[in-house]
Parts: sequence; structure tokens; C-alpha cells
Amino acid sequence: MEENMSYTTQMDAARQGIITPQMETVAGKENMQPEELRALVAEGKVIIPCNKEHKSIDVNGIGSMLKTKINVNLGISRDCKDLDTEVKKVNEAVSMGAEAIMDLSSYGDTRAFRSKLTKECPAIIGTVPIYDAVVYYHKALKDITTEEWLDIVRMHAEDGVDFMTIHCGINKETAKKFKRNKRLMNIVSRGGSIIFAWMEMTGKENPFYEHFDDILEICREYDVTLSLGDACRPGCLKDATDASQIEELITLGELTKRAWEKDVQVMIEGPGHMPMDQIAANMKIQQTLCHGAPFYVLGPLVTDVAPGYDHITSAIGGAIAAMSGASFLCYVTPAEHLRLPDLSDVKEGIIAARIAAHAADIAKGVKGARDWDDAMGVARKKLDWEEQFKLSMDPDKARRYRAEAQPEKEDTCSMCGNFCAVKNMNRILDGEIVSIFDE
Ligand code: SF4
Repeated sequence: MEENMSYTTQMDAARQGIITPQMETVAGKENMQPEELRALVAEGKVIIPCNKEHKSIDVNGIGSMLKTKINVNLGISRDCKDLDTEVKKVNEAVSMGAEAIMDLSSYGDTRAFRSKLTKECPAIIGTVPIYDAVVYYHKALKDITTEEWLDIVRMHAEDGVDFMTIHCGINKETAKKFKRNKRLMNIVSRGGSIIFAWMEMTGKENPFYEHFDDILEICREYDVTLSLGDACRPGCLKDATDASQIEELITLGELTKRAWEKDVQVMIEGPGHMPMDQIAANMKIQQTLCHGAPFYVLGPLVTDVAPGYDHITSAIGGAIAAMSGASFLCYVTPAEHLRLPDLSDVKEGIIAARIAAHAADIAKGVKGARDWDDAMGVARKKLDWEEQFKLSMDPDKARRYRAEAQPEKEDTCSMCGNFCAVKNMNRILDGEIVSIFDE
């Protein structure tokens, strides 16, 4: 490790041939050689979001050749403004293995919550400055000036945010295309709808697009990773892979190159709602148009008709997406489309996203991913219940379920009892008699 060399961002360091302490840590977590990781960071295929001001961070890398990471969206809203509850959700998310938390707060003193996160939380912290601007300036959307939008980006960088969603892909051109090609669900991205409305009311270009170079300067100074937002992500299956979505992606690909010219780390946000048969092709298109930058998917939700179960619709889509090249999954909770998630929704959403991520890691051959499953296979064969609980993604639930219906025979479970195939096979192969009927 080169201690004396100076660098601005992780990407800058990687391009100078410097292996940073953060690269060492991430390489260790991913069973990779630091040099191999450095080369991927230099190319932009792996990002290590870590703002220089976020001192409590436990760094992680994001890239399709690494373990798939998950993000948990939290934050207070006008209808649910209990800060303590949100802090509880943050702690739960971290203890359940979420690598990143996006603070989407849209009410009250957002800076206090954000600063608490970057002071204390080890997870990667992301924000969407557009939402915050509306709360912070306390004035009508159309009256927010271009300078004020940019000031919020700087404020979030100063506060130690590791990545920011910037909706810079919906410029005047994309907006024209969007209006020409009618959609069933219009724009469903919260930030996208805000900036589209601002552009319509003021007649001005998207400030995040027009002043992209100023944003890059801020990101470079603090090493903030840009998450190029997908204002035109499809909000229903019918709108998937349409002209607006692809037009925006082309712009995001161009902006990716501009960010890389300034050594700013980038990831690209993606769909959305999408039929299963379109997901793999979408991942390929993104990787091609955006030059291999990591893809951060918000779902994809593979059907529109399961409110209350969208942690499942998104886990199905997320698993296919991650297997096909996405590297970062945004969790979706059962409360999606219905209300702000409570603590139990958050837990279910995290487990669903972790299942999707892990299933994809096995399929794409991430080093060591399958070892966990193989260990569970061994524990199941031995009917070693304690070991099975320990290895479970949600040990508490596994233990509770078994306890709720204790079997007559301790070494089986109440599903098959005497008919336990595992037990009977172990016995017959050990040369024992298996009777079943009178045991
Ligand atoms: S009883 Fe049935 S479900 Fe339970 S461990 Fe044995 S084979 Fe598996």
C-alpha cells in the first residue's frame, strides 16, 4: 500500500496504481487479490462508495463480479415522522446484513437524521438530494433556483453521504420523447416526477444535467459516488423497455463517461416493473450503453398484481437481474405501493432481497457463495437442528417455526414424522431395519 501518494477518489487512486486501505478491506471480504480489485475500480466496473467524511463506514464494494449487495430505503415522511422508529429500522437493517441504507426522508429536520447516520452507521449511506431540497427550502417547487438545487448536493456531500441519486438523465430531449411516447403510468420515480415538474413549470433545462460538471467537482472533492437516477423507470409491466427508459439510459451512458473523466465513481439505477423475460436483455443493454458501470436495480417487480407481496415480486426479478449482471438490489417491502413500511415490513423486505442476492451469487459463481448452502445440506442430512438454525438466513424464524410444532420423534420434524426420508435413508444406508409403521 502506498501511504505517501495522494489521490481524490478511490477511482483516482486505482488509476494511479494505488491500493487504498478501502480496497484492501473490500478485497479481503470478496476473497480477491487487492490488485485484481484495484484494476476493476480503475475501470469503473467496481465502486467503493465511501465519502471521506463518513468515518464510521465499514466499506463494501459493488460490482457484478462481487457478492451482490442490498440497499434498504428508510426515512421519515410527513405521515410517519417518528425518528426513533426510523433509527430502530436502521439498526435492524444493519444487523440483518444490509450493506447500504438510503435515507429518503422528506419531512422535518432531515439534516439531523442524515448527520446521525453518517456519524454512527457502518452501512454505506445514500440520499436523493432532490427530495431534500423541497423540504429544506420550504418554498414552492417552481421557485427553487438552479443554484439552490446544486447547494443541496454540496450539503449532502459535506454531511458525509457516500452515494447520491441524481436524476440527470431526464433532460429536455428525454422529456420530449416521454411526451411523444405515451405511457400507462407516466413517471413513477419520485425524484424524476419532481424534476420533470420543475422543468415544465420553469421552462429550464434539468439543472443536474446542465450543471453536471459542477456536480462532478463536488463528488470528486468528497469521493461521493453518483447513482445516476432512472426518472423514466417503468412503473408497470406495460411501460417496460419503452422509448423513454432507453432514451434516458443512453444519456446516463454518456454521463457515465463524463464522470469517469473526472475520476468520479458511478453506478446506474434501473427498473422498475418488468416482465421476467425482459430482465436479462435489459441488464445486457445497460452494461453495453453504460460501459460496464455497476447496475443498481429497484426490483424489478415481475408482476403488478400483488400489493402486500411485492417483496416477493421484486425478489424474483432481483434474482434474475443479479444473475444477469446487476450488482446492487434495492429491497422492496410488503408495504410497497401501500404505505411506509413498519419494522416487520423492513425485516421481510431485507430477507427477501438477501435471498435474491444470494441465489444470484450461487448462479453466477461468486467465490464461496455456495459453501453456505453446502453446510446447510450437511446439517440437514445429520438432522442437526441447532446447526440448521445457526445457518438459517433468519435463525429466529426457523427456530420459532420448529418450536411451534414439536414432533413426537425429536430427530424428525412434524412435517413427516416417522416417514422422515432423511432419517430413514441414513438408517437404511447404515444397515439398520426401517419399519416406519410401528416405530
Ligand atoms: S420429517 Fe420430512 S421435512 Fe422434516 S426433516 Fe424429515 S424429511 Fe425433512
